[in-house]
Amino acid sequence: MKKCRASCRIAIIGGGASGVAAATRLMENGFCHVQILEAEDYIGGRIRTIPFADNVADLGAQWCHGMKNNCVYDMVKNLDVVTPTGDFFNDVAMVRSNKEVVPSELGHKFHEMAFGSMPNDTTPVVGCMGSYLVEHFWKEIEKQIPDVDRELAAEFLESFQKHESSIEGSDNLFEISGRGHLEYEECEGDQLVHWRTKGYARFLRLLMKVSEDEPSQLGLLNGCVKLGKKVTQIQLLPGRKVQVKCEDESFKVDHVICTVSLGVLQKDMDTLFSPPLPPAKVNAIRSLRLGTVDKIFFEYDTHPFPNNFVGFFPLWIEKDLKELRKSKHAWLEGITGIHKITCQPRVVLAWVGGVHGRKAELLTDAEFLESMQWLFRKFLSFEMPEPKRFMRTKWHQNSNFRGSYSYRTTTADENNTGPWDLASPIMGEENHPSLMFAGEATSRTHFSTVHGAAEAGWREADRLIEYYAICN
Ligand SMILES: Cc1cc2nc3c(=O)[nH]c(=O)nc-3n(C[C@H](O)[C@H](O)[C@H](O)COP(=O)(O)OP(=O)(O)OC[C@H]3O[C@@H](n4cnc5c(N)ncnc54)[C@H](O)[C@@H]3O)c2cc1C
Repeated sequence: MKKCRASCRIAIIGGGASGVAAATRLMENGFCHVQILEAEDYIGGRIRTIPFADNVADLGAQWCHGMKNNCVYDMVKNLDVVTPTGDFFNDVAMVRSNKEVVPSELGHKFHEMAFGSMPNDTTPVVGCMGSYLVEHFWKEIEKQIPDVDRELAAEFLESFQKHESSIEGSDNLFEISGRGHLEYEECEGDQLVHWRTKGYARFLRLLMKVSEDEPSQLGLLNGCVKLGKKVTQIQLLPGRKVQVKCEDESFKVDHVICTVSLGVLQKDMDTLFSPPLPPAKVNAIRSLRLGTVDKIFFEYDTHPFPNNFVGFFPLWIEKDLKELRKSKHAWLEGITGIHKITCQPRVVLAWVGGVHGRKAELLTDAEFLESMQWLFRKFLSFEMPEPKRFMRTKWHQNSNFRGSYSYRTTTADENNTGPWDLASPIMGEENHPSLMFAGEATSRTHFSTVHGAAEAGWREADRLIEYYAICN
């Protein structure tokens, strides 16, 4: 017999944005037995806000991307808790490896042409984003500024591709599906809406209805969260029950919502699920990708950049790049940008991604800092002191994430799969949704973001709300 909202038991695997969104919606709709099982010792997953310098640092999600049709922005727009940053990256300088700063007018022209060379709604694209961009960029150069220094244009294009790859989360743009890129729906408005001095964790507190006076509380989710609980197996039993096994306990529930990252699914699916997942799901898990994007926060006594200098994108001159690749600092090729951040007057933020990001995660702090100081000396005409403190992320190394955010690949196109296969639930008898999947990578239109993760959590909560619309 079908249970009702008050009696059915639901386990949510993972307490990131998706898990918290699912759990809070269920609690608000009369479900009484909802339990989040979270492997880490904190709630939030890839939303990780910690004290740093003058207030906080977001090790994962930092900005709400867009204002229209963005569920995060919709939730906070009347609360006076967020501020748009404006077109910040437009002011970041392009600096060559001989310390030459590209004149801003030319830099903006390059930028405008590169943006105009990206696939957009009016230009359906087959294959990968990288080929499309490169082909169209060089055509634009030929058309608009044929006399420009081609070496400089090539250096810019490399740097632009690296920056875009870090936005996409990919190793390079040649893996990115042009079709997937177009199916991603960018929310209109400022792409860098920030959380002032509170960080993205404020969104979680709003979801959980936690007061800012008691930020460590769990609000709606009090008593519903087990931290440090790694789920080792999700076993579908005959009928409708699901057995959830952790390292130290095991229990039966009626439904599981699994929100673990795509990287965790890729690595652990053979042991995590019994019986094995259906072929369509496995195809999606193997075809989509979770990229590596890491952040490095440097704290100084006073800001080391000159007042009018926001930051820089490194442009490698070919001969310097060849030398770099032979040196112990080779991973620096993966640094995509270095800049100031809003509300943190003494902090510099650097980004490293892709294959070089994964290599950088393996360095010791001393090796890492030595390379960074070398990079600053190579590119900047002013002196960068040693930071007072620095902190870096290792999202790929962490076995509870195994990467940063997901992207749609050309392999997924070839294998005719995508987030929709990842999202589809596994049913028990009589169409009972036994095992459901949420998490950012299951979002067809907003993958890789917090708003995509939250929407996915709500999608699966709504599935259960509808399933239990009539209790008997
Ligand atoms: C460096 C970086 C910058 C980013 N910047 C932005 C940004 O500015 N704006 C934006 O919108 N998005 C950004 N993102 C992406 C955003 O953070 C994610 O899309 C979103 O937070 C994912 O939420 P989720 O709930 O799907 O997954 P997660 O947050 O990964 O939650 C899944 C949870 O499952 C737990 N888990 C894993 N395995 C197990 C297990 N076996 N048992 C129990 N628990 C388990 C994990 O510990 C994790 O807490 C960024 C991400 C990174 C890494």
